Amino acid sequence: MVDSRMGVHVALGAGFVRVSTGSQDEASQIKVIEADAVERGVTIVKWFRLHGYSASHGTQEPALREAIEDIARGDYSTLHVTESSRLDRREDLDAQAEILLAIRSAGGDIVSISEPQFGRTDFAGRLVTLVAQYGNAEKSRKVKDDTYRGIMMIRDNRAHHGPLPAFWTTEGVRYAKQARCKDPAAVVDIYQRVASDDSLANLGRAYDLYPTSVKNLIRFAANHTGVVECSYTYRGQTETWAHEVEPVVESALWWRANKVLDANMSESRVNKGGRPVASPSNWISGILDCPACGGKLFVHAGMTPARDARSGKPRVPKPRPPKLRCGGHTKRRLSCGEFKGIEAKPIIDVVAGIFASDSTDILAFQRVTGNAHELDELHAELRKIQARLSATEDDDELDNMIAERKAIKARMEGFLIVPDRFDYAPTGQTVADMWNAGDDTVKRGMLLAVKRSWGMALVEREGLWGVAIGVAAEKRPVDEIGIVDLGNGLCFRR
Ligand SMILES: [Zn+2]
Repeated sequence: MVDSRMGVHVALGAGFVRVSTGSQDEASQIKVIEADAVERGVTIVKWFRLHGYSASHGTQEPALREAIEDIARGDYSTLHVTESSRLDRREDLDAQAEILLAIRSAGGDIVSISEPQFGRTDFAGRLVTLVAQYGNAEKSRKVKDDTYRGIMMIRDNRAHHGPLPAFWTTEGVRYAKQARCKDPAAVVDIYQRVASDDSLANLGRAYDLYPTSVKNLIRFAANHTGVVECSYTYRGQTETWAHEVEPVVESALWWRANKVLDANMSESRVNKGGRPVASPSNWISGILDCPACGGKLFVHAGMTPARDARSGKPRVPKPRPPKLRCGGHTKRRLSCGEFKGIEAKPIIDVVAGIFASDSTDILAFQRVTGNAHELDELHAELRKIQARLSATEDDDELDNMIAERKAIKARMEGFLIVPDRFDYAPTGQTVADMWNAGDDTVKRGMLLAVKRSWGMALVEREGLWGVAIGVAAEKRPVDEIGIVDLGNGLCFRR
């Protein structure tokens, strides 16, 4: 690739980092890749960041497919990793080879910083590649074998393995951990309050827990049985063993609390609006900040009560007009009480009106001029032929390939480079198109992007509530204001 401004060759690449939850460091991988790219004269134009997945499950495949498509389109030509295991650690060597071949036949290459020979198209390079890939599969298998041995020691010790609910912890040395409840009084209190119908949300607030965590604690059978059923599955075989603990509550109380949970779940708990619903206006829920406390505002729909508050007579419940109410801050979900809530519909209409009629172009980072990618394609074809030349025994095929190679070389010699230039270019889609075609997730993404870049706030003017866009909440450099980054290389400008 050639950058027109500099008049020199500037290659474009993408960085690929993968971190397992809580173990490896994304920032350090990025630093290493960036420094190495500078040395190679490569500009990294895109990052793939994969989180929380173990590569041995093959979950990185969609990202790799995307990279292959980008390379085929000529967006960049190299994929940079710190080591090939970031790319793939599955045990399926055929699938790994397929990805490598796909990247190469798309005209691209893999740059593995710790394995300089990785992904080279020459014969020796291919051997190194296969060895490296095999090593990754072995590493994955070895990790599993080691884990399995550890688990078997845990089983033989009848020690604890597996998740524990809130207020439970383990102590002791590795492979011989003992689980115990660290606050029996709190656990007993929670059981008693659930048994007497206190709500999970209330308890969550009292103990700083998510309602789900309260539920998991109530469901934890060892609280009354004194036995944790531990299990581990390896190659389709499940090992189970019992780990003994000190029980915390009486069986009668355990059963009462669990019965309350069962009853609450089977009751016709129809969705009454609010956060997790796919209601027509769900995209506004949790987007705007509370003007009083800065917490998040949510749409509450709800029904009128089934009984009259004064007379106690039954009434037919009617839907209430949806309101925007303060939901406070994340875990505690307590309304501040200062902001009383406003009708949601006018706000929804205003926001929808702004986006649904905005004819601003959506832009994408793409090539606007240049043919250097064609030359790259010729190079790639040549490399492919050279790789195949060393593998074929068939004379006719050899003759064909040599002729093909000559033809490609001739085309390369006469090739006139028109420099590539990359910029944000219109995709043909407008903000309105994207909004109108998008589902709730797309709409929320657009709202959040605008809020981040321009600011978007609920404001009161002469007793009427409205939405003000362009009131940047955070201070940022002037040149960044005006561009709304939608992610995936898309943006729009004011
Ligand atoms: Zn508030």
